[in-house]
Amino acid sequence: MSQSVLTDRFGRTVNYVRLSVTDRCDFRCVYCMAEEMTFLPREKIMSLEEIAQVARNFVSLGTQKIRLTGGEPLIRKGVVDLVREIGSYGLRDFAMTTNGSQLPALAEGLRRGGLDRLNISLDSLDAEKFRTITRTGKLSQVLDGIDAAKEAGFERIKLNTVVMKGRNEEEIPDLVEFARAKGLDITFIEEMPLGEISEHDRGLALCTSEEVRAIIARHHELELTDDDSGGPSRYYRMPDSASRVGFISPHSHNFCSTCNRVRVTVEGRLLLCLGNEHSMDLLPLLREHPGNDERLREAIIAAMDLKPERHHFSSDGEVEILRFMNMTGG
Ligand code: SAM
Repeated sequence: MSQSVLTDRFGRTVNYVRLSVTDRCDFRCVYCMAEEMTFLPREKIMSLEEIAQVARNFVSLGTQKIRLTGGEPLIRKGVVDLVREIGSYGLRDFAMTTNGSQLPALAEGLRRGGLDRLNISLDSLDAEKFRTITRTGKLSQVLDGIDAAKEAGFERIKLNTVVMKGRNEEEIPDLVEFARAKGLDITFIEEMPLGEISEHDRGLALCTSEEVRAIIARHHELELTDDDSGGPSRYYRMPDSASRVGFISPHSHNFCSTCNRVRVTVEGRLLLCLGNEHSMDLLPLLREHPGNDERLREAIIAAMDLKPERHHFSSDGEVEILRFMNMTGG
């Protein structure tokens, strides 16, 4: 099926699903999680088979793009097998967002399993700062992971950087140079108010995409492209490089009117919007009617009516959504 049958009340077609593979992570990024986290017990999370069943049924409803995320997807045991399974469903685009720490060991298996694209999060090129932002992460491991991904044959690798004033905004030019030197794209993300954090004031730390763009424009000419990732990123090209610079601007540039995506948390909660709680719990259905694809598809179709028109993030850092990004499936 190439045409998605998933349409919401506002006429938007949903053909992109972000599936969370785990809520756990080996990092504790300050904007994403609290330092002390309680993770879900095993019985509350979908098995790999259940995740595959959800993916397969979305595909049969016309989904063309799946992104695996988390938590950190690569720390879930068996994730390469899951990639191989979903990789056989004939998606137009099969991607993953990862912190890169496990890529030295896993990149090749992922590529062979049919994963097309990788987004790798990188907030700093300074080992100490990297450690402060991720609390537990080791920069060299991630840099090795980026190289491993390139060696494994991933072509369009994109870096994701959350920019925070007072933490990493002075690294923007270096991060762009790094992306250019390695032949990668890079997207700068405005921090979103998901979950209560104590490390910094999100309102004060907010560095808007406009500010980031102005900083880069001091070093490189930026030409707006009409490249469309089918998502919230706006991309710019630099005349002397193949690397693109993207911006995700949930505060300064609302992207709800073209939203084509839903998320499924590892608890099996189908989330209709990143910035709202509208959702449908698929886990009871998966457990009470194991293997019943028809019921699952009916539930997914019915859930589309719950997709809200838009979300509102206030830029003063006020938390509107209590779930952290690791639970949301970033
Ligand atoms: N562990 C993987 C990773 O690090 O990429 C995947 C999950 S992570 C939640 C996905 C993306 O969400 C990362 O690029 C991360 O930087 C971003 N993220 C997490 N919390 C965020 C927040 N509050 N605002 C903006 N981006 C956030």
